[in-house]
Amino acid sequence: MIPGAFAYHRPKSVKEAVAMLADLGEDARPLAGGHSLIPMMKLRLAAPSHLVDLGSIGELRGIRADGGDIVIGAMTTQHELIADATLAAKLPILRETALVIADPQVRYVGTLGGNVANGDPGNDMPAVMLCLGATYHVLGKSGERKIAARDFYEGAYLTALEPGEMVTAIRIPVPPAGHGAAYEKLKRKIGDYATAAAAVILTQSQGRIATCSIGLTNVAETPLWAEAAAKIVVGSTLDAATVKQAAAAAEAIASPASDNRGPAQYRKKMAGVMVARALARAKSRAA
Ligand SMILES: Cc1cc2nc3c(=O)[nH]c(=O)nc-3n(C[C@H](O)[C@H](O)[C@H](O)COP(=O)(O)OP(=O)(O)OC[C@H]3O[C@@H](n4cnc5c(N)ncnc54)[C@H](O)[C@@H]3O)c2cc1C
Repeated sequence: MIPGAFAYHRPKSVKEAVAMLADLGEDARPLAGGHSLIPMMKLRLAAPSHLVDLGSIGELRGIRADGGDIVIGAMTTQHELIADATLAAKLPILRETALVIADPQVRYVGTLGGNVANGDPGNDMPAVMLCLGATYHVLGKSGERKIAARDFYEGAYLTALEPGEMVTAIRIPVPPAGHGAAYEKLKRKIGDYATAAAAVILTQSQGRIATCSIGLTNVAETPLWAEAAAKIVVGSTLDAATVKQAAAAAEAIASPASDNRGPAQYRKKMAGVMVARALARAKSRAA
């Protein structure tokens, strides 16, 4: 339960942080809220020699509108997502998702940037970012890259980030007014990671589903964008047969491991159940 020795650095600007991460090389890791990284270090599953604490960098915080997008600084906490009035109005799925992450103590310090950069398939925000078509702003010594969330996750704890790079912000296109959204998460108890979870964003026109996007949490080594499942519901009235087909399509791409949340077959089935529930709730919320 005691982490290995490490040197602690506290840069005051993004420029300084990027220079430090580049200089210190592969042995350095950014430290955000520390609520994934520190437990991993205590379990000796991670042993960075240098921690670059992003906590003093004001420019990494905040939520702002930019044209049709919302841009959220990487160090914005999950609590701040819940409290923000603009997000509640324009991107209510973020509030709904943040509210089912861990507990208030974790959410006061855990950040959006840490949640999406971590690469743990159990993190809730990545699937929501896939569902929303978000883009991550990534900065390294060679400059800025913009990486689609849908291209970011390569395996468990393996992302498109190169050594020395950090996520500075998350850019999310605001779904049309009147869209319906839902995040359905099955968990064993309050504060638990998902047994399976599904994010849905949809719009309706004349009683039929006009657009739909679906993301899945913790049913594979990476978050999943369930493109085929979403296509099935577009054009439908979301009748029972269509929902069943969409749930089956989501189950077909899920490949969870058996773990203390249940056998793989059960967790796969729950992916479909979460999709069906999220579709129904998103539809009930759509104008
Ligand atoms: C009891 C408990 C329950 C939890 N339950 C849930 C849950 O149900 N759902 C859920 O989603 N999460 C859960 N979490 C995790 C929590 O949400 C973490 O806060 C989150 O995963 C990581 O955010 P952080 O700011 O703490 O990042 P850190 O722990 O500081 O960092 C996580 C990883 O991301 C890297 N990193 C951090 N910021 C950046 C950046 N800007 N750029 C590049 N790399 C970066 C770090 O180097 C590290 O590898 C739980 C945590 C605890 C302790």
